[in-house]
Amino acid sequence: MSNASIKEQATRYIMNTYGERDLALVRGEGCYVYDADGKRYLDFLGGLGVNCLGHCHPRIVETLKRQAETLLHVSNLYYIEPQAKAALLLVENSFADKVFFCNSGAEANEGVLKLIRKHAKDNVDPNRTEIIVFKDSFHGRTLATVTATRQPRYHEGFAPMMPGFREAVFNDLDSVRAVIDDKTAGILVEPIQGEGGINNPEPGFLEGLRELADENQLLLAFDEVHTGCGRTGSFMGYQTFGVEPDAVALAKSLGGGVPIGAFMTRASLADVLCPGTHAATFGGNPLVTAVCETVLTTILEEDLPGNARRMGEYFSESLLKLGETYDNVMGVRGKGLILGIQFKEDPGPVTQDVIDSGLLTYKMANNTLRFHPPLNVESSHIDEAVAILEASLAKHAG
Ligand SMILES: *Cc1c(COP(=O)(O)O)cnc(C)c1O
Repeated sequence: MSNASIKEQATRYIMNTYGERDLALVRGEGCYVYDADGKRYLDFLGGLGVNCLGHCHPRIVETLKRQAETLLHVSNLYYIEPQAKAALLLVENSFADKVFFCNSGAEANEGVLKLIRKHAKDNVDPNRTEIIVFKDSFHGRTLATVTATRQPRYHEGFAPMMPGFREAVFNDLDSVRAVIDDKTAGILVEPIQGEGGINNPEPGFLEGLRELADENQLLLAFDEVHTGCGRTGSFMGYQTFGVEPDAVALAKSLGGGVPIGAFMTRASLADVLCPGTHAATFGGNPLVTAVCETVLTTILEEDLPGNARRMGEYFSESLLKLGETYDNVMGVRGKGLILGIQFKEDPGPVTQDVIDSGLLTYKMANNTLRFHPPLNVESSHIDEAVAILEASLAKHAG
């Protein structure tokens, strides 16, 4: 099938929640993907930060084949060997002692929200039910996580939203102090706000949240669905910023392309979710956790967080250099391999021209083109991406 014929069939039979698109991607290899018409693209969108090892990484392919021939699914009525192995890797390389596996980022955050509420009820004060979240956050699309997502356009039409959330302003500790009261149970925050515009935490902000949480007996949870598993230059984003949370939600890079999420916490809190309190039929099934184990092993063995740090610096310097020639370039946002080039004004036809020239990216509301290339990206790929961007900027300058 061609791009056009796939599009025709998809628009007929798939709900139109994602809007109109032009490309159907049908095959991938490393940092590159091919559309249905056979055209090749440098994939710097990386499945929205999921394809941390690129496309069809040989170790993932080998694991998928092996596990498909062994065991796909059994349910959590039984212990699952690859699940235990994947959990060990997460625990050995983070503050956490225990992990719960689920299927997506939203579901991981749902688990964290339940953990925060039940911890408050069991261990602090049953009247404490509210969770502080931040303007421009993104935590998912289920009813609870979309309520935690403080971007009004995602709420429209879905009222009544879930009760139990208070809103503060990212990078503004006074705004957090202002909403803490005798009902507050915890704080949920992205270490770097991704979908809300790639907003880095200012120095002291996450530290300040940690202090406020400690002073007020609140749980501090990080939504690391985007920042986790190497992307910011450390295995976990909180390690990059040097602030330890009480719970972390993961997904995206965790499976390198298979649908998997997880949340994790320390032993003292893990017992809050005792038998019967939480479950997921597919959660951590043998197929996805076998791949997860392979992905995490590869990230750790090949020091991909280190590569993300080095390549992120190189990429960000190269993007900043474009600002010397092109006035519309405002700056670079993000950290490691969560990066965006921000323009003073809408770059207009540049975005589409970049894609047509073979580089996948996406424009966010704040005139920022976002990039999350694979964690094993090489400097030659970055040079290629910057050259495409530069050619498009030159073409549309003035
Ligand atoms: C993508 C994302 C989510 C939602 O993940 P889904 O798998 O789409 O449910 C939640 N939080 C953050 C920070 C994300 O980037």
